[in-house]
Amino acid sequence: MKYRSYTLSNFRQIPQIEEKLSEEEKFVIEVIGTVLPFKVSNYIVEELIDWDNFEEDPFFILNFPQKGMLAEEHYQKIAPLLKNNTDKATIKKAVDEIRLQLNPNPAGQESNVPELNGVRLNGIQHKYRETMLFFPSQGQTCHAYCTFCFRWPQFALNSFKFAMKEADLMIQYLKAHPEITDVLFTGGDPAVMKTKFFEHYFNAILDADLDHIRTIRIGTKALSYWPYRFTTDDDAEELMKLFRKVTQRGISISVMAHFNHPRAMETEAVKQAIKNLQSAGVQIRSQSPLLKNINDDPELWSKMWREQVNLGIIPYYMFMARNTGAQDYFAVTLEEAWKTYQKAIQKVSGVCRTVRGPSMSCAPGKVQVLGIQKIHGEKVFVLNFLQGRNPDWVGRPFFAKYNPRAIWIDDLEPAFEEDEFFFENANLKLHVV
Ligand SMILES: *Cc1c(COP(=O)(O)O)cnc(C)c1O
Ligand code: SF4
Repeated sequence: MKYRSYTLSNFRQIPQIEEKLSEEEKFVIEVIGTVLPFKVSNYIVEELIDWDNFEEDPFFILNFPQKGMLAEEHYQKIAPLLKNNTDKATIKKAVDEIRLQLNPNPAGQESNVPELNGVRLNGIQHKYRETMLFFPSQGQTCHAYCTFCFRWPQFALNSFKFAMKEADLMIQYLKAHPEITDVLFTGGDPAVMKTKFFEHYFNAILDADLDHIRTIRIGTKALSYWPYRFTTDDDAEELMKLFRKVTQRGISISVMAHFNHPRAMETEAVKQAIKNLQSAGVQIRSQSPLLKNINDDPELWSKMWREQVNLGIIPYYMFMARNTGAQDYFAVTLEEAWKTYQKAIQKVSGVCRTVRGPSMSCAPGKVQVLGIQKIHGEKVFVLNFLQGRNPDWVGRPFFAKYNPRAIWIDDLEPAFEEDEFFFENANLKLHVV
């Protein structure tokens, strides 16, 4: 299959859209898609979406804007502008205003951007001691856009872009930080990069011969949105060769795959892609947020983890939907999320129980909901740091007042009459040289 993508400007050319959707339904896509970025690949259209039942299809909801993804007042601001063919500048102004109200930069990401000799490295984030995120500038888009994505400002708002292309700056930073073991390529989706760019960055890491770098990770959704990246794309074979070279040099490669639904692992294309990666010595781990309207069902998760293990994939994280963009449409409460995780994990054997969650990626770290308990008569959430901006927080359980409506850490207060959580007011800036 040859890659083709559809966005706001050409989605009406998708034959199934033309055939199955009413004019009104198409207009909804236009209104929401004007505010939230919208892009879908021909693989999703042709191999993943069940068009006979598209209204409820998880992949349709995951990739095509839906009415409830914007607040009614925001929808009512944009819809008349489009209906009346208002000029572009007026529409843009209204759109920008709405976007800024959708928390475009969650979890204080700018405070993860480190400095080297007084210069801000805008394509690096270093939040957790062992792992440096690298945002290669050629990998800051995706094969398709998820309607829940927290990276949407990367695509929609220029002022929130993280990216860099200087491999030598990355190497200098790694040299100055021997505590880093993992370099995580992220985006967007780095797998949209041509193999020659992968070669540029990976060879720089190999040539630098840094003993402390043990793992290169690639955070990608290509296995779900464009598996042909690892099979029949023009430079797929070169990419597999490069991966093999790196793994043979003793640096492990881990693809941090993103599967939201078991069906994404069923096509011939994805199965072949998984095999090719594994033959190149690559490990695959899987992570996904828990999303209302897509995968809020324990049976679905236990099925997904079992199938992943059968395919040689290691289940890794279950996330809470981030507090950004269309969160209201996708959010489940912390209580529901914990119950879903618990029910799902009970149904699988130990080989699947490598998955941790539900976890919130927030400013202090990755916070897991361990459960709900009554302690000395007080009902509380038991929480735990899976990752911490301060490494000493990791593995420290703490307690918050039970709140059945809480969907994010911001909704929580300390239990037992404490004034604040132990990590509040901590210095957020840790990695400055
Ligand atoms: C999740 C995450 C990582 C990776 O954490 P692991 O627990 O090692 O997978 C690194 N940096 C940031 C900012 C993250 O959110
Ligand atoms: S593939 Fe990842 S970065 Fe891209 S839109 Fe989806 S969640 Fe966001």
